[in-house]
Amino acid sequence: MRSRYSAYVMHDRDYLLQTWHSECRPPELTLESGISWISLQIIDSEHQDDRAVVEFEARLVSAGRLDAVHEVSRFVKQDGRWFYTSGDQLSPTFKSRNLSRNEACPCGSGRKFKRCCLR
Ligand SMILES: [Zn+2]
Repeated sequence: MRSRYSAYVMHDRDYLLQTWHSECRPPELTLESGISWISLQIIDSEHQDDRAVVEFEARLVSAGRLDAVHEVSRFVKQDGRWFYTSGDQLSPTFKSRNLSRNEACPCGSGRKFKRCCLR
């Protein structure tokens, strides 16, 4: 789960496809370029044998707005590796909002937003 988040941050399309279960994998994956991923919070996770369910919220900045992907993702384990199968999108736990250029960047860098994740 965390490694897939990192792959989104790094735009590592190959890794995302490799860790996607072969029966559920999309033929192609287009990653949006205007997104800065700023944090990942695991809200809940459960696993039993070869199945896992992870609820997470990944905060992002896009076009000057703070938003998030809040999802319950399902994984299965095959040959000792976890694969993503599917997910249900939920509403973010906070209201998406415009960031002002001079406020502290929500990624926690300590810099102003305009000097950090603003694109
Ligand atoms: Zn930042």
